[in-house]
Amino acid sequence: MSESEQFASDNYSGICPQAWKAMAEANGSDEPAYGEDRWTQRAADGLRALFDTDCDVFFVFNGTAANSLALASMGQSFHSVICHELAHIETDECGGPEYASNGAKLLLGQGPNGKLTPESIEHLVTKRTDIHYPKPKALSLTQATEVGTVYSPDELRAIRKTADRFKLNIHMDGARFANAVAALDVHPSEITWKAGVDVLCFSGTKNGLALGEAVVFFNRALAEDFEWRCKQAGQLASKMRYISAPWCGLLKENVWLENARHANACAEQLAQGLEGLPGIQLRYPRQVNGVFVEMPDPVQAALRDKGWKFYNFIGGSARLMCSWSTTPEQVDRFLADVRKLVS
Ligand SMILES: *Cc1c(COP(=O)(O)O)cnc(C)c1O
Repeated sequence: MSESEQFASDNYSGICPQAWKAMAEANGSDEPAYGEDRWTQRAADGLRALFDTDCDVFFVFNGTAANSLALASMGQSFHSVICHELAHIETDECGGPEYASNGAKLLLGQGPNGKLTPESIEHLVTKRTDIHYPKPKALSLTQATEVGTVYSPDELRAIRKTADRFKLNIHMDGARFANAVAALDVHPSEITWKAGVDVLCFSGTKNGLALGEAVVFFNRALAEDFEWRCKQAGQLASKMRYISAPWCGLLKENVWLENARHANACAEQLAQGLEGLPGIQLRYPRQVNGVFVEMPDPVQAALRDKGWKFYNFIGGSARLMCSWSTTPEQVDRFLADVRKLVS
């Protein structure tokens, strides 16, 4: 069994060939530094074309920085940001958003399947309005969510309505934005600026890059001086083209979408193969590239003994993640092993 026998995470994957090729091309000549190069211009223009709007685009190294800096740009230190209790910004960023904003507090909301509801948002905004409570100024939605579900365009518009009532900016953690677009089969604009999203952190890493996230400001007023925020935080790449050129590789001929479709399809194959097996139950509906599944502990242990890697998530369910590099044959091998163990 090779090291690639894993459903641990989409960021275990390597660099997809198209991104690798673009990186090699960018390596063919010297270029201006700090984002003044042709590749960075081309990647930013490519994202503006993709979203079909005149947005401001910045590239940073990773998702925690993208989220933290984007959220910091949406309010002051005395403000708060509403997010789901399972949100990555709450559970997995080591206080990065609070740190970058000099203390803005996260307020935790609820909702089924990892999704914030308008009711939960309203509850958090209205339960206190006094000066002793950090004033809600923004909300953060993860698309697709940490539990592999998606907000529909209708759900996003309903949330925007609530956000309008309380003057909240909307941030979208798009670590798996591509997978959400693929699953919903919508134009990327439909689940971003047309649904009132102010800023999107669009992940390249989990889609097929070595590293690099695009922070896309649809609300351009919020992008004021953002380049200084990035620089201060150590997120201005000096050889920026090595982040932006691979993005060009993803954007050309919609490789980003093909990668996401492939990962989603592998997860669907997994879900279909697992569903109905004795002792096995899906914990959340399979909508993107992750399958969350309840499996007896001895089965999980036996799979790990065979070399399969995966993490446990939320109450012990196994999280099986697929990426551009997952193969249908690998899914079949996993399913065969599971079937042997449960029958
Ligand atoms: C992976 C991920 C991120 C970004 O994580 P980094 O390790 O900082 O790049 C952000 N949000 C979600 C939901 C993620 O899954």
